[in-house]
Amino acid sequence: MGVSRRDFLKGGGAAAAGLALTGKPANAAGQVPGLRTKGLASTTTVCPYCAVGCGMIVHTKDGKIVNIEGDPEHPINQGSLCSKGSALFQVANNERRLTKVQYRAPNSDKWEERSWDWTMERIATLMKRTRDRNFVKQEKINGEMYTVNRNEGMAMLGAAALDNEECYLLGKFARAMGVGYLEHQARI
Ligand code: SF4
Repeated sequence: MGVSRRDFLKGGGAAAAGLALTGKPANAAGQVPGLRTKGLASTTTVCPYCAVGCGMIVHTKDGKIVNIEGDPEHPINQGSLCSKGSALFQVANNERRLTKVQYRAPNSDKWEERSWDWTMERIATLMKRTRDRNFVKQEKINGEMYTVNRNEGMAMLGAAALDNEECYLLGKFARAMGVGYLEHQARI
């Protein structure tokens, strides 16, 4: 079907009027589509991927994530997201996502399901063991013995999604463990 110059201008005028009235673009017939996030609960968050730390809005319905988009009020990204951040929705809604802890024992060739209680206990045990085996209490420097209380068997790296307070706590925890090799992704 052909579109005359008059039809085209009419449609364009209706679309411009719709945009001016509602801030949303109208279609060629002059109809303004409804907001697709209308009625959904929204929560702000920060993208977990990189050190840019873009702000996001997560829309949920009945506790399930149905949409994620850039937060226009966030000072870092002002609503924009890179392709990776734009696809974050697929991390939450993905049939291949692991939702239970998978553990492969030393020398085993298969994964086994474990509870979070078991996992936290296991991580704490291994951290304590590693710290104790690698803890240096004193060091001789220029012929003098100095207390250093240094854990040389462990390193810690803060991730991009940590906020100031979480970084502070992680730093405190690392130093309590004697960790000297302490870094953050944003500095690398
Ligand atoms: S949206 Fe992209 S640029 Fe922004 S924090 Fe996420 S990965 Fe980084």
